Amino acid sequence: MRRIGALAFCLTLCAVPLTGCAAREQSSTIFAMDTVMELTAYADDRQCVDDAVSLIHDLEDKFSVTDEGSEIYALNENGSGAVSGDTAGLIVRALEICALTGGALDITVTPALRAWGFTTGEYRVPDGGELAELLKLVDYRGVQIDGRTVTLPPGAMLDLGAVAKGWTGDAVSALWRDMGVESGLLSLGGNVQAIGVKPNGGKWNIGIRDPFSEDALGAVAVEDKAVVTSGGYQRYFEENGVRYCHIIDPATGRPARSGLASVTVVGPEGVLCDGLSTAVFVLGLDAGAELWRENPGFEMVLVTDGGEVAITEGIEDAFTPMGSYSDAEIQVIRRG
Ligand code: AMP
Ligand code: MG
Repeated sequence: MRRIGALAFCLTLCAVPLTGCAAREQSSTIFAMDTVMELTAYADDRQCVDDAVSLIHDLEDKFSVTDEGSEIYALNENGSGAVSGDTAGLIVRALEICALTGGALDITVTPALRAWGFTTGEYRVPDGGELAELLKLVDYRGVQIDGRTVTLPPGAMLDLGAVAKGWTGDAVSALWRDMGVESGLLSLGGNVQAIGVKPNGGKWNIGIRDPFSEDALGAVAVEDKAVVTSGGYQRYFEENGVRYCHIIDPATGRPARSGLASVTVVGPEGVLCDGLSTAVFVLGLDAGAELWRENPGFEMVLVTDGGEVAITEGIEDAFTPMGSYSDAEIQVIRRG
């Protein structure tokens, strides 16, 4: 069995800021939430970056599913308990996105994730009977939250991995805005969050990785937006020539096989983009397009397993295909 680590890919081009340098650039590169994070702010001093690093580590300490000291770990052990405002806020927003996606995002998918080894790193292929038993524990609708008190159904466990980085991007953006930072860029693994515009006044050009190579397939020009990519290539293992990716279809308990190789969601709210990128990877092209038609607040770049690219019409002017995709036909998904 072979594990292809998340780190190697996240170090490269999950979503690549294609930016230059400017005066008063303050930056830091850290490893947190199981990925490499690059923080860049344009500010007079480093305080904003140092505070952001503390905030990220603080949120990681609360949200981690594997760290024995985390709030989520305690909740999963005890079945209920009081959590911080951050954790409660994220759970509430995540449950809304679970509902919005009809359960394609399901933050209680943890038992199935564990069975495949995606939580522990001990990868294996569980049999159908085992998955059927575990699926009885998967249903976000059973999670109750009253203020800061969370109660899980018996045996259920949360995993916030699909939304935590998006929430963190929103939190750092808010922190920087409060500190007066008007221009910055966060690259949190597959999550990029642009604060304002570039110091020269131009939009940020965020590269979107080609799921079949380490190159960019295109770039999207944004201002004050999150650009979040979920892809089967980001974390997976292979057994007997079959690739099993880290995004689980909660309907089957098995790695999603919807015909999509990657999903990039662009919008003002990082946590929504993060939740939706994971969910649309599960739903596939047609159901993903339907979800977009029914809901405002985000645009998408979808890449199929066959290498076709589809974008939603709101991003048509902002998206530029690159490299081998420059001459490719891009399907535009329209509202009407
Ligand atoms: P992302 O990289 O944002 O697409 O999130 C993937 C991570 O979310 C995985 O590593 C799991 O921890 C978790 N996850 C996998 N499948 C699901 C799902 N269907 N709903 C919620 N979380 C999931
Ligand atoms: Mg996600």
